[in-house]
Amino acid sequence: RAKASLTQDVCFYEADMDQAVRARRRVTQALREALEREQFELHYQVQASVETGKATGYEVLLRWKNDEGRYISPVDFIPVAEETGLILPIGEWVLRQACRQAAAWAEPHRIAVNLSPVQLSHVDLPRLVHQILIETGLSPSRLELEITETAMITDMERTTHVLRQLKALGVTVAMDDFGTGYSSLSTLKAFPFDKIKLDRSFMLELDGAAPQSRAIIRAVLTIGESLSIPVLAEGVETAEQLAFLRAQGCNEVQGYLLGRPQPEADALSHGAAVIPATATARTAA
Ligand code: C2E
Ligand code: MG
Ligand code: MG
Ligand code: MG
Repeated sequence: RAKASLTQDVCFYEADMDQAVRARRRVTQALREALEREQFELHYQVQASVETGKATGYEVLLRWKNDEGRYISPVDFIPVAEETGLILPIGEWVLRQACRQAAAWAEPHRIAVNLSPVQLSHVDLPRLVHQILIETGLSPSRLELEITETAMITDMERTTHVLRQLKALGVTVAMDDFGTGYSSLSTLKAFPFDKIKLDRSFMLELDGAAPQSRAIIRAVLTIGESLSIPVLAEGVETAEQLAFLRAQGCNEVQGYLLGRPQPEADALSHGAAVIPATATARTAA
């Protein structure tokens, strides 16, 4: 009978919903406790100039060390934090902690902090960033903010206004994961980004037989050059990838070839030359 089966379906649906809601509530509660008990850590991943082989800065990557001492990746908890609004206190903690740590470094390296679209639309970010810079004493020129284009899509006008205010503070703004969204090119038109971060998916495909990735990377580098915006390639894992990027005029690189995201002290112990000499000596294929 149609009616009975519909009732059954609804019951199953509600049981699923209930489970999903409970799972989300559990993660939310755990995240709240993680904030209180300072279970978050910042890891740093080096970025380097292709030309000089030297470090140009460090991307700040959030890690959650749970009760068992296991690191949980941000891809597993940032979405929940965004849905529940917990990304606001977590994001503020990341900014403050990163600026505080970098201000104490012997070398004035730049740090790049990821921002969630939720932060851009729900807090007075220019005021918060300004306050944290003053509080920590970090020079604004040492802070780069990374945003993805999803932040631009929701409310382009408001977002560009906020980004302009941020730039007026003296910080720089990078377009993260470039090439993965729906509006990468119009986003570049809407706001003068200081850097384009080419998504690492293009790097993965570089090793394969498909010529498309090479063509796309070349095209993005041409766009960057035409707009005078430096391009950083993410996810560089092999000397071959680096050689290709160098031959095509890519400005900066970041990836496991140079270093994994690491705790502060380990990340900073790199020394002057970050790009391995063996990789530097190679010529482009
Ligand atoms: P993202 O900003 O694009 O960061 C780069 C991601 O690529 C990092 O993953 C990094 O560990 C990884 N990666 C770097 N080099 C390589 C490589 O050579 N090979 C491979 N396979 N992976 C590489 P992670 O740390 O898991 O972070 C994932 C994403 O989580 C980030 O992507 C960013 O969108 C977000 N995220 C991380 N920290 C924060 C934060 O503090 N706030 C916010 N809102 N988002 C964050
Ligand atoms: Mg990033
Ligand atoms: Mg990225
Ligand atoms: Mg990414």
